Amino acid sequence: MSKTILRIAVPSPLYRSFDYRLPAKTPAIPALKPGMRVRVPFGTRNAVGILLEVTDDSDIEEQRLKPVREILDDEPVLSEDVLAMTNWASAYYQYPVGEALATALPSLLRRGEALPSGVQSGWRLTASGQAVDRSTLTRAPRQARVLELLAATPAGLPRSAIEVEAAVLRTLESKDWIEPCTLVMAAARAGEPRVTGGHTLNAAQQQAVDRILESRDRFTAFLLEGVTGSGKTEVYLQAIEAIIAAQHQSLVLVPEIGLTPQLVERFRQRFDVPLAVLHSGLGDRERLAAWQQARTGRALVVIGTRSAIFTPLARPGLLVVDEEHDSSLKQQDGFRYSARDLAVWRARRLNLPVVLGSATPSLESLFNVEQQRYRQLELPNRTGSARLPSYEVLDIRSQPLEHGLSRALLKRIDHHLGHDGQVLLFLNRRGFAPTLICHDCGWVAECRRCDARMTWHQGEQLLRCHHCGSQRPLDSTCPDCGCTDLRPLGQGTERVEQALATHFPEVERLRIDRDTTRRKGELARLLERARSGEARLLLGTQMLAKGHHFPRVTLVGILNADQGLFGTDFRASERMAQLIVQVAGRAGRHDRPGTVAIQTHHPDHPLLQLLIHQGYPAFARAALAERTAARLPPANHIALVRAEATQASLPVSFLDHVRQQTEQIDREGIEIWGPVPATMERRAGRFRAQLLLQSGDRGGLQALLGTLVRQLEQSREARKVRWSVDVDPADMF
Ligand code: ADP
Ligand code: ZN
Ligand code: ZN
Repeated sequence: MSKTILRIAVPSPLYRSFDYRLPAKTPAIPALKPGMRVRVPFGTRNAVGILLEVTDDSDIEEQRLKPVREILDDEPVLSEDVLAMTNWASAYYQYPVGEALATALPSLLRRGEALPSGVQSGWRLTASGQAVDRSTLTRAPRQARVLELLAATPAGLPRSAIEVEAAVLRTLESKDWIEPCTLVMAAARAGEPRVTGGHTLNAAQQQAVDRILESRDRFTAFLLEGVTGSGKTEVYLQAIEAIIAAQHQSLVLVPEIGLTPQLVERFRQRFDVPLAVLHSGLGDRERLAAWQQARTGRALVVIGTRSAIFTPLARPGLLVVDEEHDSSLKQQDGFRYSARDLAVWRARRLNLPVVLGSATPSLESLFNVEQQRYRQLELPNRTGSARLPSYEVLDIRSQPLEHGLSRALLKRIDHHLGHDGQVLLFLNRRGFAPTLICHDCGWVAECRRCDARMTWHQGEQLLRCHHCGSQRPLDSTCPDCGCTDLRPLGQGTERVEQALATHFPEVERLRIDRDTTRRKGELARLLERARSGEARLLLGTQMLAKGHHFPRVTLVGILNADQGLFGTDFRASERMAQLIVQVAGRAGRHDRPGTVAIQTHHPDHPLLQLLIHQGYPAFARAALAERTAARLPPANHIALVRAEATQASLPVSFLDHVRQQTEQIDREGIEIWGPVPATMERRAGRFRAQLLLQSGDRGGLQALLGTLVRQLEQSREARKVRWSVDVDPADMF
């Protein structure tokens, strides 16, 4: 019997694929291959699905199957490995296969558009653009940069290769310096790709590169653990250089490209080869163009955030996950995959090396090294003359604090500024104050939709909720007692900035947080001022802590380490340690030694002591032992079933029902905890609860969840709430 049944993944909330038959009259059916898109009737609409397989058996009689409307591609849009990986991930993370595959596709392809042909629109310099003296453009660095890029490629560049906002291009066009052009995509360039620069590697770096390249044609997962500034990026670059020389592609995943413009810049400067960058700032068409460059093998280097793991590569050679500990590699809603873990899966499938790099590896990866699943590569020293910073704990118990700054810290800031140093202060809270309180009666301003307090934003004269985004004007009187003495309690970056302005009025300062970087391009501008040393007092949240390179910083102040020491999430202390080490890593990157001053009410906290006296590896070993004893990840596996509803009692009663269902399934070796309301029970007007499943047996847990979600899909109870399953959750809320 000929195979005429098509098994299709159709985007829908259902945990299965759907069977269709071939259209009766198909003029010239292309050879059907998994990974092609088809248009199918689905309910009352048409949908774009992905062909999973061509088969001859179906649970439904063939005559009753609907025919496919249209076959959209004549070659698979998704490569075999991406298709297999996404299929696997849909089963592992308990997410419907059709939706999972839709996530893997650029949105234009999801909507059924044709794969782009070889023609792209782009920009090139005009004659007057060529004549511009770029050194006169110091006040418009982005314009200068575009002109410089285009000057290097007289034929023009595709839009996707010019990382700049559309407004900058419009300005340049209105000055008649650049003009649009059409570019025909050439096949991958033959001959030697040009590579420029590069350091002579030190012994540890060389060894790391050698190990990675020795494994070029087989699967090995490497954990590259190198203290900040030890030259990890240089190791990636030199390994990639060898991959490029063989005309193979490298895929590099990074946490957030917006936060690390320098990284992309370093790749560009080093390699004169087509490079595709996939980040959230791209428009649909740009994204598709970059994706297509990766898929066809034209782009030899592909850099992207977590979703770039789904990018097909025609000639893959190496996978790299930078800052592998970063929680943004795990998607927190919808398809809750870990891009890091998928990278390892994909490398295994492709029989290639994968490098996970970090100065502060996740306990998961360290555990995998312990279990000999990953191979560790260490870079124990900073490059050149740079030394690791020294730590100092500032005990702030019963010390007067001025807007969160202790006298001891102010003295140190003063000292470093006086000795031509640059100072970086870290506080993971934006706004003026996290609480507005009535000094008469103790009333505090709360969010009306969340179990949370409103943050006072003084500049905007607003109260904002950082959990649901709602805002309202600042109260002028207390709604409870009518008094007007409303005061800020605690501090955010806005308030600390004011204190700094009072203390150091002469010193140029800058603040980097979500509020000061809302405008496009603003973050890059502020980072440049920080890097150049122009601003000598830097203050910010996580945005300032991640991955940047500020060579002149000599003092790092961590204003409040206590948040991390006593978080409710079992990962809180791991996150705090990673953050401290990462922020500390900004100091003393050049020839001047750095100091890190940590303000805390708990100077004797054992994990903090371990971290600062013996370093991250010792901290991690202790934390891993604690986790193992508590039967928490990574030695054990967990999954959360979450539920939320506008009616307070529904989530818990639904999860009670889930618990009962679960108890009827084969659940050997699986422990069930809860249901319990979430730590912040109400958010954005919805009540939330969760059920925790815990097991030493990953496969058993996965099987149970698979059965469970299919039961819930049918269950009437489940329709009353919004529910989800999170396998290997990054956050426990
Ligand atoms: P990491 O990624 O570990 O933070 P980088 O690769 O960014 O480290 O290296 C830190 C700094 O040291 C960079 O300025 C880089 O150019 C420089 N560097 C890296 N490797 C070497 C080397 N072998 N010799 C001299 N300088 C190096
Ligand atoms: Zn009051
Ligand atoms: Zn809120």
